Amino acid sequence: MEKNKKIYLDYAATTPIDSKVLKEMLPYLEKEHGNPSSIYEFGQRAQMALDKARGNVGDFLNCSPSEIIFTGSATEANNLAIFGIVRATQKKGMKPHLITTEIEHHAVLEPCKILEKEGVEVSYLPVNKEGLIRISDLKKAITRNTILVSVMYANNEIGTIQPIAEIGKLLKKSKILFHTDAVQAANYLSCDVKKLGVDLLTLSGHKIYGPKGVGALYVKKGTEILPIIYGGGQETGVRSGTENVAGIVGLAAAIKQIKNEKLKVKSLKKLRDKLIDGILKSVSDVKLNGSRESRLPNNANFTIRGAEGESMVIALDQEGIAASTGSACSSRSLEPSHVLLALRLPPPEAHSSLRLTLGRYTTEKEIDKVLEVLPKIVQRLRKISPFK
Ligand SMILES: *Cc1c(COP(=O)(O)O)cnc(C)c1O
Repeated sequence: MEKNKKIYLDYAATTPIDSKVLKEMLPYLEKEHGNPSSIYEFGQRAQMALDKARGNVGDFLNCSPSEIIFTGSATEANNLAIFGIVRATQKKGMKPHLITTEIEHHAVLEPCKILEKEGVEVSYLPVNKEGLIRISDLKKAITRNTILVSVMYANNEIGTIQPIAEIGKLLKKSKILFHTDAVQAANYLSCDVKKLGVDLLTLSGHKIYGPKGVGALYVKKGTEILPIIYGGGQETGVRSGTENVAGIVGLAAAIKQIKNEKLKVKSLKKLRDKLIDGILKSVSDVKLNGSRESRLPNNANFTIRGAEGESMVIALDQEGIAASTGSACSSRSLEPSHVLLALRLPPPEAHSSLRLTLGRYTTEKEIDKVLEVLPKIVQRLRKISPFK
């Protein structure tokens, strides 16, 4: 390893773009500049690239290409899923009720909060100490008006994997639609929409070694959904705006690479466990947040009592290590993470969290380096902690 090589342990925030993905994108940023809606050859070549990409995403999700809507981000895909289903229901004169969880990404929670202000009823399922919802809570929350359940596949902060297929099976017997935000799960878990029993599923390009600014929403055929963006009627009228051809080609190219990620799950888990066990052993008064079993193979999240989260991130950065915390950094506010609060961590503990997320390029040497420097950083920070 080079002497001052940076160590990136924030793959849940974003991933570096794969060189093969970039190579597939480049023609569409240069010579292939056609608008897919134009009928002359330039346009049709871009349209063909979109069709091919849609096919790749459809293969990955085990659905028809016509069920894929490309969007400008996973945030937009989540907004489309929630507002789109609610608006379609309201149009029919019905009063919708939604069910989601306390630990969703803001891209699900904020649309829900806006809808609540409009008078839409929303139930937020709590999670247990490990960050898992209980199926019995979900069953209890269902009312006559429930139209949509949105439960994330895997959590971005604590890596907890929810029992999506089990929820899908339960909801199959009803008319209730089921959406899952699969952004963090896509690298490692099956996203077969038929096996999962979902009606809507969200993906993001930049969490799977693809480009930023592109997402996709699977919408099961026959689902009534209204657009949130109106205009030229692209994406079968559900998402207007000239398609980001290069971005979409990149998203599809990234999806084609995912099978390689799945092959490496075992070695990734080994590295993650070395990190987790190493920190639990070498730092005192530390706790792993989330589930040990039902957890993404690349996620480690700790509460390190008496060490403030943002200070740990800054100190690690000074050692060339990029990490994350559930406190100030991620939300750009002083509010501690809603996910950690949902685990019923007291606010000072929620402020003392450290998230390390591994990925394709993580090496054992890098883990060793973290294990070497973190205990010293924690010791130093505890001396000046306001939480003591
Ligand atoms: C990153 C992330 C998003 C948002 O994705 P963007 O494409 O950046 O909008 C949504 N949900 C989860 C779980 C994420 O990790």
